[in-house]
Amino acid sequence: MPRFLLISPSPPWDADFAGLIEADGTAVTRVPPTAIATVAAFAPPGVEVVLQDETLEPIDFDAAADFIGITANVSQLARAKWIAAGFRAKGRTVIVGGPHITLDPGAFEGLCDVAVTGEFEGVAEAFYTDMLNGALKPLYAGGRPDLTTSPIPAWDLYDNDRALIGIAQTSRGCPFECNFCDVIQYVGRAQRHKTNDQVIAEVQKLYDVGYNRIFLADDNFTVYRKRAASLLEALAAWNGRDGRGYVTFHTQVSIDIAADDRMLALCAEAGLTNLFIGVETVNEESLKESLKRQNVAVDMRARIANIVSHGLEPVAGLMVGFDADSRRIFEQQYDFAMQLPVGTFKVSSLSAPVGTPLYEDMLRAGRVVADEDRTQYQAGDQITNIHPAQMTREELYVGTRWLISRLYHPDGFWTRLQAMAARLAPSPLPARSHPHDPPGRARSKRLFMEMMGSMRRRDSGVARVLEQTADLMRARPDIRDTLADILHTWLLNFHGQIAKGGYHPAWAELDSPPFDDPAFADQQAPAPMPRPVRVDSIQPLRA
Ligand code: SF4
Repeated sequence: MPRFLLISPSPPWDADFAGLIEADGTAVTRVPPTAIATVAAFAPPGVEVVLQDETLEPIDFDAAADFIGITANVSQLARAKWIAAGFRAKGRTVIVGGPHITLDPGAFEGLCDVAVTGEFEGVAEAFYTDMLNGALKPLYAGGRPDLTTSPIPAWDLYDNDRALIGIAQTSRGCPFECNFCDVIQYVGRAQRHKTNDQVIAEVQKLYDVGYNRIFLADDNFTVYRKRAASLLEALAAWNGRDGRGYVTFHTQVSIDIAADDRMLALCAEAGLTNLFIGVETVNEESLKESLKRQNVAVDMRARIANIVSHGLEPVAGLMVGFDADSRRIFEQQYDFAMQLPVGTFKVSSLSAPVGTPLYEDMLRAGRVVADEDRTQYQAGDQITNIHPAQMTREELYVGTRWLISRLYHPDGFWTRLQAMAARLAPSPLPARSHPHDPPGRARSKRLFMEMMGSMRRRDSGVARVLEQTADLMRARPDIRDTLADILHTWLLNFHGQIAKGGYHPAWAELDSPPFDDPAFADQQAPAPMPRPVRVDSIQPLRA
C-alpha cells in the first residue's frame, strides 16, 4: 500500500499561525492545516495517508513514505521550497499543490515531480487513481470546482489536542477586487458555497474531535446575504442545542455587514464572536488607489461601533505603504485606530503578492524588489517586496513596526477595551447552554494560562490590564465572556508579535516612528525566529 506523507510547512513569521510550545518542546499550533486534511479526506482505500504539520514536528527527510505531498500558500513558500529540495535530494517523489504554485507555476521548477494547481476537489479522483497505478502525471489542474463535492477534512488523522482553534471553510471567493489581494486570484470572485448540511457536518466533526472555537475560514463570510442568513440560522439551530455545549465562531467579513442590523443579530445568535474586517486605512486616496471601494466614504467609527453593540468583537486589519501614503500615515493611522472600539489590530506593510494586479503594476513600473532573504529581519513579513512611492522600504518597515508597537501597547488596548465595554451587548450563548469544554482542550488551556502568566510577570503593563479587566468583568457579568474573548485575542496576537519581533517595547512609548533611530540596524537578526515560541521565552518588556 503506498504511503503518502502530506506536509504543511511552517511559515516563518505569520503570527496567525504562531503556536505555543511547552517546556518539554511539545508544541501547540494556532490553527490546524485544513489543506492537507482535505487532500487526505479524498484518499481511497489502498492509500495510507500521514499528516505532518511542521509547526508541531520537525521534518524527517528519511521518513518512511512513497510520496511526499506539500501544500503551500504565499507565506509558506520559502519553507516549502526548502522541504521539497530536501526530499528531492533523497530521490523521493515530491508533489506540490496549494495557492502559491497556482499563482506562480514556475516557483517549484526543478523542485517537484508533480504540480497540482487550482483546487484539489476537481482532480482528486484522477490523482489518486494515477497514484495507485504508479502513473502520476506531471500536472493536475484543479480549477475552481463546485464545493458541494468537498469532503469533511480528515481530522481523525490529526492530533487535534495540539491546535488552539478548529477550522472549517464554508465558501471560497469574494466579489470585491482589492488590487493587492491574491485570494481572489486563485479562488476567484464568484463565491462558491458548501451546503448548510455540509457545514453543520463539518462543525459537528470539529466539536466531536474536541474544538470549542472554530474559525470559519471564508474569504468574505457574509457578502452574499441570503446564503449567509440561511447558514447562520442553521448554525444557530445547532450551536448549544440538543444537549451540546456551545462553541464560538470566528470569521472574516467586509465592512458592509456593519450597516445590516439583521445580519449582525444573526451572527450573534449563531455564536459568531470574532469578526475580522479589512479596515485598511484612514486615507481615502489609498482606498481608491487599491480599489477597496467598499470602504470608501464609510463612517468607520459608527459602523464598527454598531458591530460591537450587537455583542460582536471586531478585529481590524490596517495597511500602510500605499502610493498615497506619506511618512505621516503611521501617526494618522494610530489616531484613527484609537478612535475605533477594536481590541486587536493586525497591521501590515503593503506588499504585492505574485499574480495580483498590484504586482503587475509594480513590475511594469520597475518597483518590484528581486527575491531577497527577508529572514535577516525580525518580523520579516513587514519588509515589503515593492518600493513605496513616498518613503523608503526601511522607513515603511520602521513605521509599520512602530504602529504595531503603539497599538499593542497595554495602555492603548485598555483604552479601546473600555470603549468596547461601554457598547457591548451580552452574547445570547450563555443563556442557551454551557461552554463546550472537552478534556482535549486541557493542554491548550494550560499553555495559554502559562503564556498569560509569563506576559504578566514580565510586563507591568500587561499585569495592570489583567487586573483592570478582571475588575471590569466583575462589574459587568453580562458581558464577561466576550471581554474574556477580547482579552484572549489581544494576548495571543501580542505574544505572536513579541515572539516574531514585530513589537518593539521602546518604540511603543514614542509619539512618532523613529525613522532616524540608529538602533534600527539592531533590528536585523542573523536568523529567523524559531516557530513556535516557548511561552517562557519572552524577555522583560518594561519595568
Ligand atoms: S475584501 Fe478581502 S477577500 Fe475580498 S478582494 Fe478585498 S482583500 Fe480580497
